[in-house]
Amino acid sequence: MRAAVLEEYGKPLKIVDIDRPRAEGSSVVIKVSGCGICHSDIHLWRGEFSSILPADLPIVPGHEASGVVVDVGDNVPPDIYPGLKVLVYWSYCEQDDRYSEVGMYQHCSMKAPAGFLLYNGCYAEYMLVPHYRYLVPAEGLEDLSSAAILSCAGATAYNAVKRAVSHGVGEDEYIAIVGLGGLGVLAFQLARRLTGSRIVGVDVRREAVEKALEVLEPFEGDSIVDASRSDPRRSILEATGGKDVKVVLDFVGSRGSIETYMDLLAPRGLYVIVGLGSAYGPSIPVHHMVIRELTISSVFYGSIHDLRSVVDLARRKVINYRGFTTKITLDRVNEAIENLHRGRVVGRQVIEF
Ligand SMILES: [Zn+2]
Repeated sequence: MRAAVLEEYGKPLKIVDIDRPRAEGSSVVIKVSGCGICHSDIHLWRGEFSSILPADLPIVPGHEASGVVVDVGDNVPPDIYPGLKVLVYWSYCEQDDRYSEVGMYQHCSMKAPAGFLLYNGCYAEYMLVPHYRYLVPAEGLEDLSSAAILSCAGATAYNAVKRAVSHGVGEDEYIAIVGLGGLGVLAFQLARRLTGSRIVGVDVRREAVEKALEVLEPFEGDSIVDASRSDPRRSILEATGGKDVKVVLDFVGSRGSIETYMDLLAPRGLYVIVGLGSAYGPSIPVHHMVIRELTISSVFYGSIHDLRSVVDLARRKVINYRGFTTKITLDRVNEAIENLHRGRVVGRQVIEF
């Protein structure tokens, strides 16, 4: 099968022929339909995760996969069968513990995420999934290759919005969505559906704002803010009529974004860092935080239940995921990585097979 292989950090992936995996035991092989190029893949490619998550090189990257089951091991139950359309939950767990028992495999102590560690990812025509429990049926989803973005971006955005819900954001309060890339646009729609609050999406990239305005249909009271030319804080306050914001969901997660948007929070507000924009954030503004009783939180991916929930919402057409994907072929993967790294991508690039 054809696959793109990362042999050395920072060097172009090599597109080569490698052996197609075979299923045995509880594992399953899927024929990949779509494989999203996630920002985490850039961190992997640049070697930026090597201290927290050392990769096994060479490896086939890619963890945001959709596909069709083609081969199942002897222990796989009959409801997972060849021909079934699926999404892959990527954060595999090698040894069960109290997190895996409740489907939060992303926090298990022996993680083996697809495309990073032990298991090849979806920059390939076929992908081995080590256990059928990581598959979520995708029947009824339109455009299976675009639906791949639900697997990482969708589940992560859903988990972030759940934080806002459990923080108790009210109907006349504001949620700011920082960064209108693949995750931000999904979170915008999820926040609108799962809370009664007013949503303000903001991006400093004009193209991202234009795309969001084209595809998202804000409710009355929601807004999308172009901060490419003006001060982002002032732009948001103009959109809210001067009201501060109860929750910020930060899909950029850089030192600059946290410094910029933390100031917008209302007393008892919540700041959720989702993006991995900078390894270290700003120093903590202790006085500001304490006086306002602010909470800083973070989200890392989601549970398998979050993935199932977001797939269900997509199936019911509550969220639009198709309008934000750009499909490419495997041959163009290096160009796609470079474009994402340079900030030239709007929405999500998906390798379509
Ligand atoms: Zn990802």
